[in-house]
Amino acid sequence: MIYNHQIAPQDLLRLDREHVWHPYTDFTNPGLITPITRAQGVELQLADGRVLIDGMSSWWAAVHGYNHPVLNQAVIDQLGKIAHVMFAGITHEPAVKLAATLARITPQGLNKVFFSDSGSVAVEIALKMALQYWHAQGQAQRTMFLTLKRGYHGDTFGAMSVCDPHSGMHHLFHHTLAHHLFAEAPTCGFDDTFQESHIAKFAQLIQQHRQKIAAVILEPIVQGAGGMRFYSPEYLRRVRELCDKHEILLIVDEIATGFGRTGKLFACEHAGISPDIMCLGKALSGGYITLAATLCNDKVSNGIASGDNPAFMHGPTYMANPLACAVANASIELLLSTNWQERVAAISQQMRDELAPCKDFSYVKDVRTLGAIGVVELHEPVNTAQLMPLFIEQGVWVRPFGHIIYLMPPFIINPEQLSRLTSAVLKVVSALAD
Ligand SMILES: *Cc1c(COP(=O)(O)O)cnc(C)c1O
Repeated sequence: MIYNHQIAPQDLLRLDREHVWHPYTDFTNPGLITPITRAQGVELQLADGRVLIDGMSSWWAAVHGYNHPVLNQAVIDQLGKIAHVMFAGITHEPAVKLAATLARITPQGLNKVFFSDSGSVAVEIALKMALQYWHAQGQAQRTMFLTLKRGYHGDTFGAMSVCDPHSGMHHLFHHTLAHHLFAEAPTCGFDDTFQESHIAKFAQLIQQHRQKIAAVILEPIVQGAGGMRFYSPEYLRRVRELCDKHEILLIVDEIATGFGRTGKLFACEHAGISPDIMCLGKALSGGYITLAATLCNDKVSNGIASGDNPAFMHGPTYMANPLACAVANASIELLLSTNWQERVAAISQQMRDELAPCKDFSYVKDVRTLGAIGVVELHEPVNTAQLMPLFIEQGVWVRPFGHIIYLMPPFIINPEQLSRLTSAVLKVVSALAD
């Protein structure tokens, strides 16, 4: 096949089925796979010319929508300079600028930035930083991580080992995963009144195992792929206090929550805390090119540097890819130059109003919104394969999972487009009655 040979539309799905594996999919029975030919603004265009309003931001990454002229230009400009260059012994402006920007806009103290290619790898790096930090302190016995049930941190082995032991992939890979400590998922909702009892079990675990724990790792405020659960900022504040009290590092995974999704630039800001290590990904590059970052404070970086092995032992081939860094710089600049907070607040309010009627169905357990996240939680698991054609019929791209039908639209969505999403959700939820 020559490089510019176009695949005839009728062959596309056949070849896809023959050769391509999709995420979390049985390749013998992949369900509905929808070919997309173009993406523009908040619209995904199908081969037959129909368009779908995007309610997913491509797994929460495309905050500015698709085919954005500013982001396109950033990639084009960088492409003419350096597409990629190895990062060992070499540096370049897009990476330096991005690191300096991240250090400036993230919670106080996060000064050092380690770039990688995906969120899962950013989590691996965070875990490794914590382990190497304690190794350097002469406390190599600290090899355990304390985390929360219902958490999700990625698909690689280290990340899997701190994912929820039930909804994660523990049942499949249990025999090969490191065993860590799991506290109950927070039960105190975002707006609920926090009580000491909400953190009692976590406090007990951290106290009991304090000599073996390298770090606590959690998603701040929103547990994403584990069920879109929102919890009290006070819980996160107390976790920070307990980590300080027991001298344990705190790793915060902001891969899903970073860059405005929860209404704050970073979810840690709801609690006014700063972690020792922070993971970023997803919206970091505005949904354009895979990129992730692990940030740490001086305590961690100096701690590692003071050990017998002062070099931090990680180095991805495509580390700090200039195209990805350039588009991330443009995406952050674009976000911060707009009234994103008002926009996210308006999206939040509209979703709250328009999803509220879903509460009337007995099989709906909860309807909640936080920032630009709208969630309808059902008592029973959804049948994603059955619901996808219904959403596509309504002209929207919404992909439920577990017990959850949710919306995480691009921030550029207008009220009319957002109403198309919420009314499609309402319609599909009411159809579940049959
Ligand atoms: C998506 C996600 C990851 C994994 O990121 P990938 O880029 O898919 O590897 C890790 N943590 C959280 C909280 C996520 O939402």
